Amino acid sequence: MEVFLASISFWGGVGTVTGSKYLVESGQARVLIDCGMFQGLKELRELNWQDPPFDARSLNAILITHAHIDHSGYLPRIIRHGFKGPIYCSRGTADLLKILLPDAARLQEEDADFRNRHNLTKHTPALPLYTEEDAEAALALVRPVANTGEQITVAPGIVASFRISGHILGSSLVLLELEGAGAAGQGRRVLFSGDLGHYDQPIIRDPVAPPPCDYLLVESTYGDRLHDPELPKVALARIVNDAAQRDAPVLIPAFAVGRTQELVYLIRELEDEKVIPVLPVTVDSPMAAATTRAYAARTEEQDEGYASVLAQQRHPLRTHSMTTASSKEESKRLNNARGARIIISSSGMMTGGRVLHHAMRLLPDPETTIVFVGFQAAGTTGRRILDGEPEVRIMGQRVPVRCRVAKIGGFSAHADWKEILHWLEGMASGTPSRTFLTHGEPAAALAMAGHIKDRFGWQVRVPQYGERVELL
Ligand SMILES: [Zn+2]
Repeated sequence: MEVFLASISFWGGVGTVTGSKYLVESGQARVLIDCGMFQGLKELRELNWQDPPFDARSLNAILITHAHIDHSGYLPRIIRHGFKGPIYCSRGTADLLKILLPDAARLQEEDADFRNRHNLTKHTPALPLYTEEDAEAALALVRPVANTGEQITVAPGIVASFRISGHILGSSLVLLELEGAGAAGQGRRVLFSGDLGHYDQPIIRDPVAPPPCDYLLVESTYGDRLHDPELPKVALARIVNDAAQRDAPVLIPAFAVGRTQELVYLIRELEDEKVIPVLPVTVDSPMAAATTRAYAARTEEQDEGYASVLAQQRHPLRTHSMTTASSKEESKRLNNARGARIIISSSGMMTGGRVLHHAMRLLPDPETTIVFVGFQAAGTTGRRILDGEPEVRIMGQRVPVRCRVAKIGGFSAHADWKEILHWLEGMASGTPSRTFLTHGEPAAALAMAGHIKDRFGWQVRVPQYGERVELL
């Protein structure tokens, strides 16, 4: 039997939570697992502009664990570097990529445009990292597959299967079977956790147990943290009831994909249980509306709770009095509404989007409550408000912050370290000969490595950017 040399190289999603890219080579075949954009710090973002550290044209295929931009946002750029092969992902991921990639391209184009108009660039003219046309070219290569463990040959001698990872719609664990690889040509199995979901998260199913593997890559975003013990539903009820008693509005900046659907689901549930009164709810984000349609259509990803609401002839993602603002005019008309109501709008960190119009009107109002339900990165308007700044700048205007500011910490689409251990306990048989901690800040990845060593005694390692490991 022919023995193949196989290896994995870590080109992102190590030492950071962004830019995930793992190159697997086996014999003559090469596949890339995830094709994420680097985000956050400038030195990371600059990596997006460098040539990829491998020949994009030599890749047989790209496999995507889920649609978040830090796992998929480099796809339109890699097309520019000559990649023409198939992009495999689950059907749910394909649905969300259609929403997220063109949006990411628009943001890149707007950013370049802004730099040109304000002379903020050394390069004249500043060019976008990619355009909507590049995003469409990437979408044309997408080959949706089942998220149920079916085996697909993605390259000569490389068989892949996707299984639900419970993080967002369509998110997958990806198992690669490398035929003929290994020291004795016995074949090697490499499992990628992708982003692992928080157990009992509403709407979507919990992560499935990890299939046996020889090499394991596991994420470590919350490797050194546990989730807030107060359930987000309880915190949400407290805030909504308080606002209802004062007949005052609640503004929730929320990411359009995932978090908005979760909020609507919980508000509907609280209304059904009569824990909160029925208030007018407005979801003001065209991207959120498109995402909600995708979540509702992919029945194979929905959990039992969702199915039981459907069985009662109810829409799980609609509250009792809900409107979705679809035009800019409708969105503006909403601004004139009065009294207790809930407005959910993106972007989640208030870096752009329609939430800014609502914020301009509501931040100066002492009766309004603004509620943060997701991570607020340093430097964003959301973070400034959360940090108690008395005034913020929105669309060139100074806006005083006189409203109440609340934060719900318990929302998360990631498993915390105890949940990751619980997931690993479910591994059907065998011990991976090596486990790599990925997708975590250095402290989180190290802490997660320690937890796994303590519990299972496995060989664990936190890989470095650019490291290449032979799969023996
Ligand atoms: Zn993610």
